[in-house]
Amino acid sequence: MNQTPTVAVLGGAMAGLAAAEGLHSDGFDVELYERQTYNEKRVNCGEAMTAASAIPLEKTAENGFINPLPEMEVEVYDGVQSDRQCTGRGRFTASDAYITDRNVVEQSWADRLAQRGVDVNENRSITPTELFEFADGYDVVVDATGQPSLTSKALQSTGEYSGYLVALNADVVGDFSDVYPNSRIILENYTGYTWAFSKTPNRANVGIGWAVSDRPDDYMAAFKRACERNGWPEPTRERTNVAIIPEGPSLDPQRTYHPDYSIVRVGDAAGIANRLTGKGISQAIQSSYLAAELAAENRLEAYPEQLYREMKPEYLLATVIRYFTETRQPQILGKAIQAGSGMDIEAVDRSPRDVLIQLARHPRLFVQIFGKRKVLQRVYQAATDQWEYTSIPDGESPIVDSSF
Ligand SMILES: Cc1cc2nc3c(=O)[nH]c(=O)nc-3n(C[C@H](O)[C@H](O)[C@H](O)COP(=O)(O)OP(=O)(O)OC[C@H]3O[C@@H](n4cnc5c(N)ncnc54)[C@H](O)[C@@H]3O)c2cc1C
Repeated sequence: MNQTPTVAVLGGAMAGLAAAEGLHSDGFDVELYERQTYNEKRVNCGEAMTAASAIPLEKTAENGFINPLPEMEVEVYDGVQSDRQCTGRGRFTASDAYITDRNVVEQSWADRLAQRGVDVNENRSITPTELFEFADGYDVVVDATGQPSLTSKALQSTGEYSGYLVALNADVVGDFSDVYPNSRIILENYTGYTWAFSKTPNRANVGIGWAVSDRPDDYMAAFKRACERNGWPEPTRERTNVAIIPEGPSLDPQRTYHPDYSIVRVGDAAGIANRLTGKGISQAIQSSYLAAELAAENRLEAYPEQLYREMKPEYLLATVIRYFTETRQPQILGKAIQAGSGMDIEAVDRSPRDVLIQLARHPRLFVQIFGKRKVLQRVYQAATDQWEYTSIPDGESPIVDSSF
């Protein structure tokens, strides 16, 4: 009798590929199902990959790793008008980060997995009905289908996401010599930001994202205006992707593993992209490796709690920084960015400890930030696990439609 445990990985982007990698290394018989084909797949993300050493590929241009990013530049402005004033800027090292052609990275990773014996099925969309059949047929099912996840569609609970960011992006050709080899993020006094992630001096992924509360009436017009005021080429509508990033921790940790069906959710399907920046690739890979490790130890029931514990510091940091964008305080935000300058970009996103140590070197600013009752309230709520998902009813999502 074949004793090799079997797993179906649904979705073959960063989270699915990492899950297949981890599970295959741990001795599982892995079948991966991806809705699209790798060579046709459209890019729908900024393509900046941090913590890239977790991806088991040589970091070459042939594998899609175009620009080993030296630094991320961050600028804060007090508005979106032409007379906007800069309130602070910082440069953040990016020791393990690349600006990529993500399609190529995914294709290379899928090729590597296929060569090692993973059964990679492209152009194969799994339906909600099939999800339950798979749950019967495999020892484990990994839902890496992004958001809203296939599991939430099958359980008719796509409304479980408590908020979202809307983001537009395009790969454009033009003069980026003032940015390259660095990349740039610009905060302009709304909850969200614009970016230019340069691949070469003449090519970059540019984009813009807004929290749902701050989104404009006409996304495309706002995107074009942002490119214009930042001196970047105007993207065409045809080449522009629009997508939605759910706000984590919008999923109840208890929903990231469904023991009745042995379905585990990873990456965006688990709602774990950063709730301030929307960055989610390193988080997706981390969640997948964690799920693989626990599946190999036959301890998947520990996954929700462990994933939540690993992500919580990042959620806490995001909720505090978001306070200053939501309440329109670009002066404090600008000073904070300036004070953080020199840190690694992954730590800025994900390590409150490192951020606190850095801010503590600026006592006046520290007091300006943490002397606010509302900020302390947010810290307390995060520390005591009081998140908005506790009041989210089940049901269909109002945010599934991402057309524009
Ligand atoms: C505009 C934008 C810019 C971003 N920029 C960055 C960035 O620069 N850096 C960063 O780290 N993060 C970024 N993010 C976030 C990042 O894109 C996501 O967090 C990340 O893609 C999550 O990976 P995933 O594999 O979980 O999900 P996804 O990338 O959404 O992949 C899900 C996969 O599942 C497949 N699939 C879906 N349904 C089915 C089905 N029924 N059957 C089979 N397959 C299915 C899809 O085709 C897809 O390939 C950005 C997001 C947006 C929207």
